[in-house]
Amino acid sequence: MTFLSAAINRIQPSPTIAVTNKAAQLKAAGRDIIGLGAGEPDFDTPDFVKDAAIEAIRAGKTKYTEVDGTPELKTAIQAKFRRDNQLEYGIDQITVNVGGKQTIFNAMLATLDPGDEVVIPAPYWVSYPDIVLFAGATPVIVPCSIDEGFKLTPAKLDAAITPKTKWLIFNSPSNPTGAAYTRDELKALAEVLVRHPQVYICADDMYEHIVYDDFEFTTLAQVEPALYDRTLTVNGASKAYAMTGWRIGFAGGPVPLIKAIAKIQSQSTSNPCSIAQAAVTAALNGDQSFLIERNAAFQRRRDLVVSMLNQTPGLRCPTPDGAFYVYPDCAGLIGKRKPDGGTLADDEAVAAYFLDSEGVAVVHGAAFGGSPAFRISYATSEANLEEACTRIQRAVGALV
Ligand code: PLP
Repeated sequence: MTFLSAAINRIQPSPTIAVTNKAAQLKAAGRDIIGLGAGEPDFDTPDFVKDAAIEAIRAGKTKYTEVDGTPELKTAIQAKFRRDNQLEYGIDQITVNVGGKQTIFNAMLATLDPGDEVVIPAPYWVSYPDIVLFAGATPVIVPCSIDEGFKLTPAKLDAAITPKTKWLIFNSPSNPTGAAYTRDELKALAEVLVRHPQVYICADDMYEHIVYDDFEFTTLAQVEPALYDRTLTVNGASKAYAMTGWRIGFAGGPVPLIKAIAKIQSQSTSNPCSIAQAAVTAALNGDQSFLIERNAAFQRRRDLVVSMLNQTPGLRCPTPDGAFYVYPDCAGLIGKRKPDGGTLADDEAVAAYFLDSEGVAVVHGAAFGGSPAFRISYATSEANLEEACTRIQRAVGALV
């Protein structure tokens, strides 16, 4: 349709949201569906956070706030960066946005021009390339294989950078693979980045708090202070605090970038919800011990799913260090015939087959730039996961 802009025609609707919606529709139509597509914790927002929101409403915190965050929330974020990441940010170096998605969207829109390149390791979070495309720039996708632990190597990073590279978008722990980089791995990547001063780094730390087996989370600006001045350290409340619906993301970074992000926000959404900001202030300032219990539950689920998938012929599932996703390789299923006669040509067909035959909704790897594979979100009960994996095993067993 010619009425629509060139920018809108460059992007697709989010495929993970599409799978979640399709699963919900089938469920509403009466089918027995287990949805493993959604990227959100099944846990509820902690009660002390809800109470803070209710209190904020009663106290009349129902008006516009400062465009990019209240002073109270920015102060809580400042303390969080200091406590968790040993990063010192001034209040004027902090921005609060309508989810981490908007943080990244605003940052890219504020900095990218046609011809600019953005390095994105794959498998990637679905929105990165489309945000870059919407901004008119060029995503440079760097495939990272299962045998590399789905991680970017310094050599591959070096090879992907050109004089036109403006950003590296870096995500650890990763959505969709759960891969998390150690301090040494970050150091090795940082050595490359130090040699390319034109490159800014968007460190998407959204899954910082969801790590397993004593994995120690670190972030790029922390392990290499020389990168501090050109790193946007992005985080948010959605995953750690089970607050996906509240829509609060935030970042720390260089003042001119933070100001530019606020400028876009001032002409688009204005401030994030005042009540949600009060709730996240409480979440960040409050007792963090509930995270330990939740991570223990996630870890039990991860172990269950990895074990059951690896007992399925044709699937190969690494054990991730973080987030709540697994990313099994399904090369062994491609080319197999379904009981009804059709052939599984690619991972999209594999995902469709699981949904049609057994009512299990997963997201195909092509959506994340890493095929053939699929993503399972294990943010659901062990009973659901056991049933879903049993169904996947049955579906795979029926292939010829
Ligand atoms: N970054 C990653 C890697 C994510 O997986 C998500 C959510 O799925 C986000 C950022 C954005 O989260 P939100 O906009 O809910 O803060």
